[in-house]
Amino acid sequence: MTHLDIKPYISEEKIQKKVAEIGATLSKKFKGEPVVAICVLKGSFMFYSDLIREINADITCEFFGVSSYHGSSSSGEVKVTLDLANPVEGKHVLLVEDIVDTGLTMNYLMNSIQSRKPKSLTTVALLEKPEALKVPCKIDHVGFQISNEFVVGYGLDYQGYYRNLPYIGQVQNFQ
Ligand code: 5GP
Repeated sequence: MTHLDIKPYISEEKIQKKVAEIGATLSKKFKGEPVVAICVLKGSFMFYSDLIREINADITCEFFGVSSYHGSSSSGEVKVTLDLANPVEGKHVLLVEDIVDTGLTMNYLMNSIQSRKPKSLTTVALLEKPEALKVPCKIDHVGFQISNEFVVGYGLDYQGYYRNLPYIGQVQNFQ
């Protein structure tokens, strides 16, 4: 494993406060109705599991596996590694992503879900890098907007590692 120099960037406390805020907003929005919450694997698993516990609605869980990132910059190609197990037609769908960088992955996911004709689609991302956007990508709920730097922790990895950090860290001197 490559040991990186990681500077704490967004603390566990700040993340949990933001997750509770987004959860409260979504609880009001869904008004207790059934919702299919989609976890985008692998990066959003930690955010997703914290967020759904803050939403007061009848939630069923689905998992969408995509891989789109190699090293420190997005490849632009989205590969589906795990498709949804059940149809979402006619259902309220909540799509939970870890981070929007170029926007290509979120764009791909939104198109893929819209083509399955949900009743509604709400998008949420914990992090967004507005300076890195390459395609228009309107996310309904964003936790934190960050600068165009590589971050790890709270689900986000570098070569598969660092996902278990409870906070988000900025990688120093990253090539
Ligand atoms: P996009 O398609 O928006 O360029 O990339 C989205 C995916 O790239 C995210 O789901 C995430 O897996 C990965 N990604 C983008 N920026 C970062 C980052 O700063 N750190 C890590 N660990 N992954 C990132």
